Amino acid sequence: MTISPKQFPELITAIINTINAHEEEVTELDQAIGDGDHVFNLQRGLTALEQAQQEISALAWPAAWQKIGMVLMASVGGASGSLYATLFINLSKNSGQGELSSASFAHAFSAAVDAVKQRGKAEAGEKTMLDVLIPVAAALKTGVDASLDSEQLLKSVTTAATEGVESTRNMIATKGRASFLGERSIGHIDAGAKTAQLMIEAIASL
Ligand code: ADP
Ligand code: MG
Repeated sequence: MTISPKQFPELITAIINTINAHEEEVTELDQAIGDGDHVFNLQRGLTALEQAQQEISALAWPAAWQKIGMVLMASVGGASGSLYATLFINLSKNSGQGELSSASFAHAFSAAVDAVKQRGKAEAGEKTMLDVLIPVAAALKTGVDASLDSEQLLKSVTTAATEGVESTRNMIATKGRASFLGERSIGHIDAGAKTAQLMIEAIASL
């Protein structure tokens, strides 16, 4: 399986559709333990990416990742904006020139998630988007090492994302705005984990 920037318009449309379809649900999650703006921050970034889709799909790796990161950096406010920008800029730094195989993507994604951890000074178990991104990076690596076929690999990634988002429910938030609530954050799914899971599911089911 290879991943090409030419697929970008199709990907961004699928992501926008799923985020729009879950707008109310994500807003309720972020209102419960955050400030309620997460979905709008993300939609601003996705609209900017949609506007840049021709330019992005005409680029090759790793320039396309870099451009995605820069567009997000410039368009998204909130904690999630700089964290997603960090993710894509580090995908660029860790991808070689030309075609991207599942194995090279798994390597680059893992390095990019590590960069997000550093940027947000956060680890697994702090009730953030990382509780989806970290298990997804691990599932990618395990799947590639086990030579899973594309279908099995995508299924394993989707399962890791779904379990990851659900795992945030019983965590105490120790990063971001939700950390102000301490133990009162228990019982709510993290909004940023939810949107990460939705986006990964949309990408995996293309
Ligand atoms: P803000 O919190 O600034 O309003 P958003 O609402 O857009 O920003 O994003 C909130 C989401 O960002 C949270 O739900 C959480 O998943 C994620 N987040 C916040 N702080 C961190 C961090 N330090 N590391 C990783 N993810 C974080
Ligand atoms: Mg917010």
